[in-house]
Amino acid sequence: MISITRSGSQPSDKGSADYFTGAVRIDSPFRRSDPARVGGGIVTFEPGARTAWHTHPLGQTLIVTAGAGLIQQWGGPIQEMKQGDVVWISPGVKHWHGGTETTGMSHIAIAETLEGKAVHWMEKVSDEQYRR
Ligand code: MN
Repeated sequence: MISITRSGSQPSDKGSADYFTGAVRIDSPFRRSDPARVGGGIVTFEPGARTAWHTHPLGQTLIVTAGAGLIQQWGGPIQEMKQGDVVWISPGVKHWHGGTETTGMSHIAIAETLEGKAVHWMEKVSDEQYRR
């Protein structure tokens, strides 16, 4: 079977305040069914917006499609990522991603599920952590 999800056929969703800080939009979410286990979507962060700290049991690929943003591994430096960059986050690595303080950023996010879960959410990224 070939299935085409038409652009505009799924309403945009807002990133939950439980897992995101600031204004975050999620478009075109997808989740394939067993035996496939890939899923993801297009995530758009306004300036200052970011995910909470989290891990992915089987890792995550980010493809930055617009703007410039930030990503940080727990205990590591905050790194910039820009349109066209492709980022890999290894399984189990605690991290966050989002816009910069002054620029928005969109990325395609792709992750596989393990026992039905593609992400494990943790605490929010504080302003102090974000502005460091
Ligand atoms: Mn992630």
